[in-house]
Amino acid sequence: MYYTPSQFEGSPNHTQSMDLTTNTASDRLRRAGYRVTRQRLAVYEFLSRNDAHPTVEDIHSGVKGGLPKISVATVYKSVESLVDVGLVKPIYLGQAATRFDASTEEHAHFRCIACNQIADVTISQAPVSMDELNHCEIIGSTVEFYGFCASCRRHRLGLDPN
Ligand SMILES: [Zn+2]
Ligand SMILES: [Zn+2]
Repeated sequence: MYYTPSQFEGSPNHTQSMDLTTNTASDRLRRAGYRVTRQRLAVYEFLSRNDAHPTVEDIHSGVKGGLPKISVATVYKSVESLVDVGLVKPIYLGQAATRFDASTEEHAHFRCIACNQIADVTISQAPVSMDELNHCEIIGSTVEFYGFCASCRRHRLGLDPN
């Protein structure tokens, strides 16, 4: 499931979708031998309704309203377990903090090389010839376009922000 924040807020199936999301996460975690904790579910819920590709710090700020005692280390471990069971994809950014994505639909990313902001880009076709990979099992793909986001582009051109 993939929602932009505005669609999600306005959805009449809000509660139902959230239960579904939580159930899917619980099942996957349990089957992989992880304990289903409130922390793990809260982290997954936050990621599944957020399309800004947050860092561990961002996730921590987002969930501590509901779980005031949650530590950054616990968020980190929760995210790790969700990555391990395939519910969340990491986006590695070298020196900058890794960002995370719970969208399970195949999509590409646009990354701003100045501020690391990441936006989803819809791609309709697999760009590689599968014949080249005939002995491999493909389980996903990462396609990244990079450049400057609108605000960094304006900044570089010496224009006013926005
Ligand atoms: Zn930028
Ligand atoms: Zn994404």
